[in-house]
Amino acid sequence: MVNITETSKALFVDFAQDAGNWNGMPLIGGNVMITNAKADRGNLTQLKKAGLVETEYDSFERLTWLTFTEDGERYAIELGIDLGSNLLKINWAHFHELIVLTDIEGISRLSGTAENGAKWIQFEVDYLAEQTEGECSICRKSLVDGWMCLDGGDEVCSSHIKLIR
Ligand SMILES: [Zn+2]
Repeated sequence: MVNITETSKALFVDFAQDAGNWNGMPLIGGNVMITNAKADRGNLTQLKKAGLVETEYDSFERLTWLTFTEDGERYAIELGIDLGSNLLKINWAHFHELIVLTDIEGISRLSGTAENGAKWIQFEVDYLAEQTEGECSICRKSLVDGWMCLDGGDEVCSSHIKLIR
């Protein structure tokens, strides 16, 4: 039983319906505005207190993102809202951490091994082969080149990769 006011519920619905545009993690102030008005902030606080959503402030980009908790996902389903099939479970604590690679091999296409044992390889989108641009799983920029994890397929910008030779 979710105990929130109708206005908080309306806000939840707005974010939930917008989530699909943001891989499940809508930008606060993106398509759904939160004004500085006390009532608006109160509704968001109520959603957080009800354990439906959490907010993640990215001090580098100065943006705040909204994430849905498991309860929030369940509530959205109850309301018949699809949060987006491509929910990215990003550990935001690692936002600015580098992926450190050792055992570097290769000449034109480098590859290396991360601390967790995952293999990463450099890639470049081949337009002739009609490959589509990738999306960085850390900062979400679209990528025409970068690094791809061979264990799981994550793609990231070169700026998140540090090579130890
Ligand atoms: Zn990136």
